[in-house]
Amino acid sequence: MDRKDFIKTLALIPIGGLTMQLSSLKSITDKFERTSRMPVLFLGHGSPMNAIEENDYTRKFREIGKSLPKPRAVLCVSAHWETNGTFVTAMPKPQTIHDFGGFPKALNEFQYPAMGSPEFALQTKEIIHSVDVGLDQEWGLDHGCWSVLCHLFPDADVPVYQLSLNYKKDAQWHYELAKELSALRDKGVLIVGSGNMVHNLRMVSWQTPQGGGYDWAIEANDIFKNLISSNEHQRLIQYQSLGKAVQLAVPSADHYLPLLYTLGLKGEKESVEFFNDRTDMGSISMTSVLIH
Ligand code: ZN
Repeated sequence: MDRKDFIKTLALIPIGGLTMQLSSLKSITDKFERTSRMPVLFLGHGSPMNAIEENDYTRKFREIGKSLPKPRAVLCVSAHWETNGTFVTAMPKPQTIHDFGGFPKALNEFQYPAMGSPEFALQTKEIIHSVDVGLDQEWGLDHGCWSVLCHLFPDADVPVYQLSLNYKKDAQWHYELAKELSALRDKGVLIVGSGNMVHNLRMVSWQTPQGGGYDWAIEANDIFKNLISSNEHQRLIQYQSLGKAVQLAVPSADHYLPLLYTLGLKGEKESVEFFNDRTDMGSISMTSVLIH
């Protein structure tokens, strides 16, 4: 059976039948040749409106997308998929999830028709040994994922799957889990953490839509960038002890944890570049990281 036919078959079988197919899937994924090592990204996604707006952030996302080697698949760790347990999306055609309210019709109707990657989902499950990873058939792509990937890969011609954030685990656990994903970088998988380093929705100022940040937001953003640049990952993992500004910047872990996945994948000699380095609406920073 060739790869295409296999994916078709997989689309037709219920979850219970999945295990029967694992051995043949494995033989397919083992054939994926090594590629040059893919970069890793952390993307500040901000408002879902970025999906349909033209601004400095989206222009930069498109520029970054063009500069990357074309991936075989994207694995996105989004702030917006928190689960009890650890899952990867494993459906062949993930739905576009509109997981927000109060936005215009154009955004509610936005579709990002990228295919999924049941093969890489399975391979991801197999390379993670510290925890059992479930193959999810329900989720799809949430806006943390599609609102940025629609600019990186506007033709939706790269398969996309997601890894969930296990909300029962602490920051150190997530950082260590990221390291287990490392081999995917040599198989052509672009791993993207999508969140926001500084993200305090309760303190958002609607008067400053673009540009402008509270002093503590700018301070926290600088603290994060300095620690990222100097490879002080352990201090970033223990972010709650970084002082008042950081405590205000990270009132809950969801938008910060994707950054730790990106950092956990950094090799010792790899370099770090920042882009979209700005705070918006007072309490959100769009600062993004490219590691290569
Ligand atoms: Zn978000």
